[in-house]
Amino acid sequence: MTERREQIYEGKAKRLYTTDDPDLLIQFFKDDATAFNAQKRGTILEKGIVNNKVSERIFRHLAEHGIPTHMVERISDREMLVKRLKIFPIEVIVRNVAAGSLTKNLGIPEGTELDPPVLEFCYKNDALGDPQINESHIRAMKLATDAQIGRIKELALRINALLRPFFAERGMILVDFKLEFGDHGGDVVLGDEICPDTCRLWDARTREKMDKDRFRRDLGKVEEAYQEVCRRVCEEARV
Ligand code: UDP
Repeated sequence: MTERREQIYEGKAKRLYTTDDPDLLIQFFKDDATAFNAQKRGTILEKGIVNNKVSERIFRHLAEHGIPTHMVERISDREMLVKRLKIFPIEVIVRNVAAGSLTKNLGIPEGTELDPPVLEFCYKNDALGDPQINESHIRAMKLATDAQIGRIKELALRINALLRPFFAERGMILVDFKLEFGDHGGDVVLGDEICPDTCRLWDARTREKMDKDRFRRDLGKVEEAYQEVCRRVCEEARV
């Protein structure tokens, strides 16, 4: 069995550990939740377990459709064995429906369909509040090469095209989501997690929010929403 050795990173929702294999890390999912650049903090009970399970199911779906991901396997409730990537300090955001910062910054009403989907980049830097950047910033700051940027864009749009029907079949609208990619031996590989912390998901029938916005906006029933996403995604439930 692969065991955790040294902790090399602690983020807001996860910790990373080395293993005896230099190419493999263990990603540990916590219940801690933060919002608004960590100004709001709290705990969502069993969130780590849900996010690990949901991420596993989604990474498996993506891998089955040719997307390279860092997942090797989920090894316990809160642990996922992953390939070690050199993460690009870029958050890639894909939007199908206007919500969150897009509604605030551009005045587009929440719920407006975005066709074609909108792709955004942010510079991963907590001290600066993860500012939005464009491709020329990425080039000038040497965060990724032109070829890597091209591949990141291609993969992000393919992932969106795979995940929209995946969630739709399970009664959910994929409003927007955040991806992180890294270099693994010269290949661009999907890393991090895909879960209700990093996606906006609305119930397709009622348009009720089923994601971290329930925590961000104090909408209540946070744990229930995470569990329901987990049930629909992992138990293959169709509504
Ligand atoms: N997101 C994320 N981590 C971040 C910022 C955004 O996972 O540090 C996700 C967020 O959950 C949403 C999407 O990316 O699904 C778009 O977020 P937005 O830019 O609207 O920012 P927010 O208003 O949520 O901070």
